[in-house]
Amino acid sequence: MSHASEKVTDPICGMTVDPATAAASAEYEGHTYYFCSQSCALSFKADPAKYAAGAGN
Ligand SMILES: [Zn+2]
Repeated sequence: MSHASEKVTDPICGMTVDPATAAASAEYEGHTYYFCSQSCALSFKADPAKYAAGAGN
């Protein structure tokens, strides 16, 4: 609950990803998104608006 390292969610597959060890990342509209694999990053980059919209912020 009080761990220092923050985990984020891969917007493509929903997997929990640690930014420090993420396989890939991409910036979109000022946010950095992290991915479990290059494959997920490529899917995001193909249509970032589609996936970023679900982020909630
Ligand atoms: Zn993924």
